[in-house]
Amino acid sequence: MSADAIRPEAREDRPPASRPSASRPSTWRLFRRNALATGGLAILTLVVAVALLAPVLPLADPDATALAERLARPLTGGHLLGTDALGRDTLSRLVWGTRVSLLVGFSATLIAALVGSLIGFVAGYAGGRVDAVLMRGIDMVLAFPYILLALAIVAVLGPGLINALYAIAIVNIPFFARNVRGLTLGLARREFVDAARLSGQGDAAILFGEVLPNVMPVIVITMSTTMGWMILETAGLSFLGLGAQPPRADLGSMLGEGRTVLFNAPHVAVIPGVMIFVIVMSINLVGDGVRDVLDPRLRSGALARPGARARIARREAPPPPRDGLLEIAGLRTTFGAGASKVEAVRGVDLHVAEGECLGVVGESGSGKSVTAMSVMGLVPSPPATIEAGAAYLAGRDLFTLPDREIRALRGAAVAYVFQDPLSTLHPQFTVGTQIIEALRAHGPVGRKAARARAVELLDLVRIPGAERRLDAYPHELSGGMRQRVGIAMALANAPDVLIADEPTTALDVTVQAQILTLLARLRREETVAVVFITHDFGVVSAVTDRVAVMYAGEVVETGPTEALLAAPAHPYTERLIACVPVLGEPDRALAAIPGRPPSLAEPPPGCAFADRCARVEADCRAAPVAMRPLAEGRAVRCLHPVWGA
Ligand code: ADP
Ligand code: MG
Repeated sequence: MSADAIRPEAREDRPPASRPSASRPSTWRLFRRNALATGGLAILTLVVAVALLAPVLPLADPDATALAERLARPLTGGHLLGTDALGRDTLSRLVWGTRVSLLVGFSATLIAALVGSLIGFVAGYAGGRVDAVLMRGIDMVLAFPYILLALAIVAVLGPGLINALYAIAIVNIPFFARNVRGLTLGLARREFVDAARLSGQGDAAILFGEVLPNVMPVIVITMSTTMGWMILETAGLSFLGLGAQPPRADLGSMLGEGRTVLFNAPHVAVIPGVMIFVIVMSINLVGDGVRDVLDPRLRSGALARPGARARIARREAPPPPRDGLLEIAGLRTTFGAGASKVEAVRGVDLHVAEGECLGVVGESGSGKSVTAMSVMGLVPSPPATIEAGAAYLAGRDLFTLPDREIRALRGAAVAYVFQDPLSTLHPQFTVGTQIIEALRAHGPVGRKAARARAVELLDLVRIPGAERRLDAYPHELSGGMRQRVGIAMALANAPDVLIADEPTTALDVTVQAQILTLLARLRREETVAVVFITHDFGVVSAVTDRVAVMYAGEVVETGPTEALLAAPAHPYTERLIACVPVLGEPDRALAAIPGRPPSLAEPPPGCAFADRCARVEADCRAAPVAMRPLAEGRAVRCLHPVWGA
């Protein structure tokens, strides 16, 4: 610590909390969080270091026999680990044998990875006949039982360590080839590869510049997870006398030699056995750790898969419900913990009455989706935690309901429509199947009745030829149609609340207008309350009755849509509205809002918008700004609003 204080460069490295990189921990730090993997790495490093240093360590000659001292117990006669049946020093043989085993295992892994990946790479990229020939060859290798094939290869090549190495490498080639081929096959048809081709790059450049970097992590992961196996297999061959030949020792042959004196001198077999266990175990732990760290989906900070329901850790009792159908009160949702904690939602209050449409507007990253997902416990935990607040549905506190009841409410009482209908619809099932599945998830419905209801729903969302479209796959529909299907699925169980999270963002303007009209009509006909989330003030007036404007995880202004659009009170709302282009007003200045929202890892103590605000004064930054009521059901979180101060 004191050294840090003297070295200025060390201090620069220290406060990571204020830097953007803080929220994404480095690979090494992620790895370190995994205690098992770190332990495995420590043990493995020690073993490898000792094996590498074997020539300089003060060890006895591993091959020097001394029949007078045969089968000495550990800690006797100057032999730390005793001697074997020929009086050779076990410790020395163990270190040298470990060296051989590690070398063979590592080399075999390298050869298998290199050859196997190359085969898979070429087969996957070239496709067609090349693929067929290469992969059938691989299939032939796979058609034999694994260890038998290795035995057969050694039988042909003759016993010996090098031949055992080849045999192990060969039988492991298919694992790399198949893995890499599958991956390359998918990558070779991706848009960025097409883009590289269109830019005039040759096959080799594409293969090594575009595809290889994407395959590399998988090769590394496969290597780290198969190396333990290869060491075991080498030991197996040596155990059978087909690998290392006397007098040279490897762990497998030591085990084999120890077998004959197992009852007289168990240490001769047990010691190499324990060593094999330790090496393979530590390699596997490190391999698992490497896999977890290299998988970008696990990089968000947690090494565990999110549970089915968001973690709720409320300290204070939630405020009592008011009268709204859906009421969110004082909601706080955070991601991660410690230095990389992000306060995504910081005390949000919202309410929606029966049949009402509430618009939630704000820039990307303002916490709209996290708020909406928190309601039904759908934010991924880990890393998310709901730290405070409550969500009441018709007076029931959703955060205290048991999982079973929440599941029954999801999709039935509260349904969601998401931004990208292509990624929310299952690509392998017809839309009919998926709508029917949504129906049957919440009650027993006969096959016929469900199908009839599905047709009704598609009619409701104005999909022409509904009966026929039931048998279409998602990719056969246009973006607008897919979003209609998404809405139909959400409406399947006649929800009380429909949460539409940017449902029109992925669509072009004309389709967007159609979907908005559809939502507005459905809201009247089906009497469903809608929470309509968008970043675009332009679409708000088309559907919503009331608007809540969000900024940096807080609601900064609420009010009836018309009044709020006509006379925004918060400077942020004013600027957001000014960003919307108006047709027929080409002279209107579109003012982008300068600056960026504050980091939610360290939210400012006062108004979050202060740094970008033209009306900012000293008091804005001093303390948290509370919501204060304005006229006619409006409220604003601002000390110096545009009007009504
Ligand atoms: P939007 O208003 O665009 O819907 P979100 O609610 O999706 O914004 O996100 C709000 C903030 O929450 C983001 O800026 C991000 O920092 C954080 N966040 C969202 N999802 C995750 C996640 N899975 N892991 C970590 N942080 C997240
Ligand atoms: Mg969002």
